[in-house]
Amino acid sequence: MAKETPFLIGVDIGGTKLLAAALDEKFKPLSRARKKTRGKKEGVLFERVCECVASAIADSGLAPGGLRGIGVGSPGPLDPQTGVIIDTPNIGWKNFPLAEKLSDRFKVPVAVDNDVNLGTYGEFHFGAARGGRFVLGVFPGTGIGGGIIVDRRLYHGASGAAGEIGHIVLDPNGPLCGCGQRGCLEAFSGRLGLAGQLAGMVLRGMAPELADEAGSDLRDIRSGQIAAAIKDGDKIVERIVRREAARIGLTVAGAVNLLSPDTVVLGGGLVEAMSRLFLDEVSRAVKAHALPFLGRFVKVVAAELGDDAVVMGAGKLISERLESQAGKGDKQSGSS
Ligand SMILES: [Zn+2]
Repeated sequence: MAKETPFLIGVDIGGTKLLAAALDEKFKPLSRARKKTRGKKEGVLFERVCECVASAIADSGLAPGGLRGIGVGSPGPLDPQTGVIIDTPNIGWKNFPLAEKLSDRFKVPVAVDNDVNLGTYGEFHFGAARGGRFVLGVFPGTGIGGGIIVDRRLYHGASGAAGEIGHIVLDPNGPLCGCGQRGCLEAFSGRLGLAGQLAGMVLRGMAPELADEAGSDLRDIRSGQIAAAIKDGDKIVERIVRREAARIGLTVAGAVNLLSPDTVVLGGGLVEAMSRLFLDEVSRAVKAHALPFLGRFVKVVAAELGDDAVVMGAGKLISERLESQAGKGDKQSGSS
């Protein structure tokens, strides 16, 4: 029988969807399996993850025995050392030992990290932030996630959960945020914050194109619908989106002063749909508000990998974990 081709699986567990991909030796997806996560209970969601991994393996055409490891990006907070998901209200996991359970099921090592961290890591190794060394990833979506790479390594901080740029408070009297605070960046500029402002304009009859696109119930508005309304001439929609992109930029400028990155990579649905607008506003804000000396070292770029960023970053993470374990094994056998 032919030797089994070794391969890895990368998994992206989002608030609404699940993606698993079998990855070749260059971390390119060979297959992609998708499932919905919305409204799933703890045990059911775990079974969904396992089904999704199994489908990705089956669709790859590779012999399952070649599977070497699984990397997983999940919403946090979580412990990147143990792979325990501490608390994720969106998907209902609490102190859930995801790495251990997946490892038991598939009989291979499993590494888990925050989904936004791994999206940033994917862009750093394979996408728009390639060649960087100090990278800040900012992903405006339903919330606004952040990932930090310091000297080529993911930065986790004392809690393991560093990078929460979306919960930097800009106005303690501002709109209520999902985290319980008021006036967090994402309460203004995340998709939900944006939808609230846009809905007001639709109700006042000031955004006719957006009303055509999405109707008056904007809770589930998609980034593509906002982009289309701007393209079709809704000036007020463009003004609101630019204002929020600039607000993200103002926060990024503060982060530039704190971290001095060489690359800021912007991704997520809103940026994918309106990359020029977001790049312009964030670059402008960094230029205007970061210290000029620090600002000179940083370039602002749009993510390149789309949905593959997290699964590719997750694959890279587990491959490094496997390498370091193999290295330790060599050292042990070498010294004995
Ligand atoms: Zn918050």
